[in-house]
Amino acid sequence: MNKTILVVEDHKEMRDLVKSVLERDGFSLIYAETVKAGKDFLKHKKPDLIILDLGLPDGSGLEICSLVRGTAGLSKTPVIALTGLTEFKDKKLGFDAGVDQYLEKPIVIEELSLWVKALLRRVELDTRGGTLLTFGDLQICNESYIVKFKGKIIGNLTRREFDLFYFLVKASPKLISRGAIISEVWKTAAVENLVDTHIFNMRQKLPRQLAARIQSVPGIGFRYFQPR
Ligand code: CA
Repeated sequence: MNKTILVVEDHKEMRDLVKSVLERDGFSLIYAETVKAGKDFLKHKKPDLIILDLGLPDGSGLEICSLVRGTAGLSKTPVIALTGLTEFKDKKLGFDAGVDQYLEKPIVIEELSLWVKALLRRVELDTRGGTLLTFGDLQICNESYIVKFKGKIIGNLTRREFDLFYFLVKASPKLISRGAIISEVWKTAAVENLVDTHIFNMRQKLPRQLAARIQSVPGIGFRYFQPR
């Protein structure tokens, strides 16, 4: 079955370039030229992967990325951002919004093709089976993205925060370095202080008792510690 890729890009030459290589690779492409058109499409359809231009006529492609990450059934869809914005702060915004991979324009089109295939493979591996992890009073399911603490569901973590939490709990009581967290959770080059930002935000959202179990060891990393 053909995988479907949503390409949100307002620049025709760019769309043609993407089309030339991805259709050759056997993907079905759907195009949108605005944030609104992209969002409308996602109301009814679930593509296998999304390629987003960030500078769109009616806003930023990151709005679409945030929508995807916050929508059940779409939240694991890989997102590649294509952009001419090269400043660090824009990249950081992109990673915060849940972009999986960032390609700067002018893009190397074969590189895009490689990333598309790599990210789709990762999703296939991920969805082969969800694991329910029980840790005393804590339960986590990496398929339904549910965290249950003392029987209560904690439902407000972003996908990235969830992945980070899941990784720490799974590795518990091992101390995990920022670098290891980045390669497991971001699966791409990212800056280390993103980890701290995400840990901070995640702690704010967890019940205090649970948040306290995420320990930071200055200069080294983080761990989840389950009391006996
Ligand atoms: Ca553009």
